[in-house]
Amino acid sequence: MIIQLKESISDSQKDSLIAEVNKIGYKTTEVKTQLGDYLIGIGKKDFDIRKIGQMEGIQDIHIVSDEYKLVSKKWKVSPTTIDLGDGVCIKDGDMAIIAGPCSIESEDQIKKVIAHLQESGIRMMRGGVFKPRTSPYAFRGMGIEGLKLWHELASAAGIKIVTEVMQVSQIEEMYPYTDVYQVGARNTQNFNLLDELGKVDKAVMIKRGISGTIEELLQSAEYVFSGGNEKLILCERGIRTYERASRNTLDLNAVPILKAKSHLPVIVDPSHGIGIREYVPQMALAGVMAGADGIIYETHEVPEKAYSDGQQTLDFAQSARLADWIRKTFEMRKGFELL
Ligand code: PEP
Ligand code: MN
Repeated sequence: MIIQLKESISDSQKDSLIAEVNKIGYKTTEVKTQLGDYLIGIGKKDFDIRKIGQMEGIQDIHIVSDEYKLVSKKWKVSPTTIDLGDGVCIKDGDMAIIAGPCSIESEDQIKKVIAHLQESGIRMMRGGVFKPRTSPYAFRGMGIEGLKLWHELASAAGIKIVTEVMQVSQIEEMYPYTDVYQVGARNTQNFNLLDELGKVDKAVMIKRGISGTIEELLQSAEYVFSGGNEKLILCERGIRTYERASRNTLDLNAVPILKAKSHLPVIVDPSHGIGIREYVPQMALAGVMAGADGIIYETHEVPEKAYSDGQQTLDFAQSARLADWIRKTFEMRKGFELL
């Protein structure tokens, strides 16, 4: 059960409410976010919702039987909009395009990518300054100095930054220079990190874990939300299966399922999803048709020379064509109503 509390609720009204919920055998947790104050009741017994619902200090009450609660569509039917400012939004009914290199490498590289994005009308740039690498000897990123430089150049160009945070200690130092904190697939169940991101007043994009289920992704989002941060985006980036012909198996089934289960926007990452440059565009477009609210992909001036993930990275000409096709496909999707 989720009870949204009125701003005006008094301490004694809240105490009586908690006592009443406990009486039916439900444990309660209070959640305060940037937008609201909620009481989450966890329990299994049937109860008369009207009895609780008529108590004082309640704004709204719903029974949400899912393991995840606040990110569930059973709680909030209307889709959540992530507003990054300056007219840049990620939301249902729109198509966000986020492009950029796997790793931020140099000032020259950043400038070239920004020029390409501006030419293609793309307002969000991805890139890692702290890179999770399978090998400890691979390039590990430019670090916070790289992020500062990137931020200076991107903000002058009106471009928003989507970048991965790997550990709790980085959250604060990254804050002034980050528009969307990316939680990488290897950190989807780093619950300390998720808890701390709950305290931040900036958007968080959570990638699906390498072996994570859809339910687990939603539970990870619930961590951040119940920690206080409602500005969440879900990202399908492929999962580990027995298939070895592609880097991962991009689970496009997850897109309509996530959209049906949650009010949060859903983004597809075809670059990590398939891991093969030639097939990134068609998987991106398949993601659009599956119902994604945005696509995130990797691009670099000379993919062969990229410090990481060059094999799945598009050059600028390919990226410009793909951005165009993403928009065209999205227009077509608008007229696509099957059932
Ligand atoms: C990335 O976006 O470059 C990345 C490392 O992604 P993932 O966490 O999905 O592997
Ligand atoms: Mn990458």
